[in-house]
Amino acid sequence: MIYHSTRDLSLAATGAEAIVAGIAPDGGLYVPEVLPKIDRSAWRGASFQDMACGIFRLFFDELEDDLPGIVKAAYASFDDPAIAPVRVVNERLALLELWHGPTLAFKDIALQALPHLMQAALKALGRQEKVLILTATSGDTGKAAMAGFADVKDSGVIVYYPADGVSEAQRRQMLTHGEDNTIALGVEGNFDDCQAGVKRLFADRVLQETLAARGIRLSSANSINIGRLVPQITYYFTAYEALVRKGVLEDGQPLDLTVPTGNFGDFLAGVYAKEMGLPLGQMTVASNANHVLTDFGETGVYDANRPLVLTASPSMDILISSNLERYLFLRLGDAEKVRALMTELRETGRFALQKLDGVRWGWADETAVFATIRDLYESDRVTIDPHTAVAVDVARQVSDGFQLVLSTASAYKFPREVLTALGREVPETLEAQWEALQEASKLPVPQPIQKLRSARPRLEHRVAVDAMRESVLEFAKGVF
Ligand SMILES: *Cc1c(COP(=O)(O)O)cnc(C)c1O
Repeated sequence: MIYHSTRDLSLAATGAEAIVAGIAPDGGLYVPEVLPKIDRSAWRGASFQDMACGIFRLFFDELEDDLPGIVKAAYASFDDPAIAPVRVVNERLALLELWHGPTLAFKDIALQALPHLMQAALKALGRQEKVLILTATSGDTGKAAMAGFADVKDSGVIVYYPADGVSEAQRRQMLTHGEDNTIALGVEGNFDDCQAGVKRLFADRVLQETLAARGIRLSSANSINIGRLVPQITYYFTAYEALVRKGVLEDGQPLDLTVPTGNFGDFLAGVYAKEMGLPLGQMTVASNANHVLTDFGETGVYDANRPLVLTASPSMDILISSNLERYLFLRLGDAEKVRALMTELRETGRFALQKLDGVRWGWADETAVFATIRDLYESDRVTIDPHTAVAVDVARQVSDGFQLVLSTASAYKFPREVLTALGREVPETLEAQWEALQEASKLPVPQPIQKLRSARPRLEHRVAVDAMRESVLEFAKGVF
């Protein structure tokens, strides 16, 4: 498969090159030249791993020989044999549980695979470089990247998170990481500052040359990397099959779904699945109180000039949604136009387009999020996290029919918010909150939480946005 930049068709790369680079040299995102069609009948009854392998092969054919091993290693640490099980809650709702990996959020599905894909890509390219991953996180990518790259030879990870914008459990997860090739730094700013800072580092030629002289290449574990996006296509296919197997859906019947959205990667993987032939029906983008995307969907105007609101769903507290660029490219099919829009966005914080039809857009305010967590608990004894609740509320707003909602994090990552929603007392310490949540929800405590309970967090390191560049050089010196 050949990839090219969303901003310039002449900037082409193989899958291996696109994975290693993370972002195209002009700042655009790599997109596949075509979206391959999948013959679903050939995959009936396939395991998650086999389905993943089949999809990887379509996108990364030059890594073919390595793929079975990659898939096996990537999904070995999940606590459910289905990897992404589907739970039918009632006649209107099924949840696709994407949080059975080591860090309890959907990012694991891609980030447990990406380091292996990256190593295979370097091997295929015959390169000996060390890879330094720079990642901006709104909470979940950080730990998932650290877990994925822990102990991976010749690699290092720096995670930048908004120092005051992640949940306590997310912070604890990042700071209890024991591997020396990873570090999490709290940036004095919000997620958009972290993301813009990382993008600036990728565009910093002098920095890259300095590192290249020492055999180090920068890359990204954010969903701007195509190696992050492709693994997410898998669960749309396996979820559909699971619903058919459970008799909830007739084979071939369109499935409506709602996806809690921040950087648009998860939703875009669903759009790709549909283009590849999966019978998806109405697809809804669910935002929290930072509803830039909803406004864009309703008016065609994307306007990030507004204060970022810190919500109970921090992984969706995003105003510049980077994968929207790939969606715009898919819909407009015009790299020059995309480049112009992205330049406008960078310079003015906004761009205007005609309204795009085809998908639905909705958002949930904080009151609705807390009410939804309580409602679902009271009606069906199902405890969901605030990100999932955003999507459940939006799904109810847009339709009375049956929908699949993507459940992106375990409730154990947000015990304070979930206990509050359930009307329970919130104890002081995280440990006591987890216990209270177990008591209330009867959800078994996941293994990774048990480990966190006994681990001692490192000291938190904070950096100013201006000091991010220096932090890269310093870390690279220590690690490689
Ligand atoms: C990252 C994340 C999201 C948003 O996913 P995008 O691909 O950025 O749209 C939603 N929920 C949780 C729990 C997440 O970690």
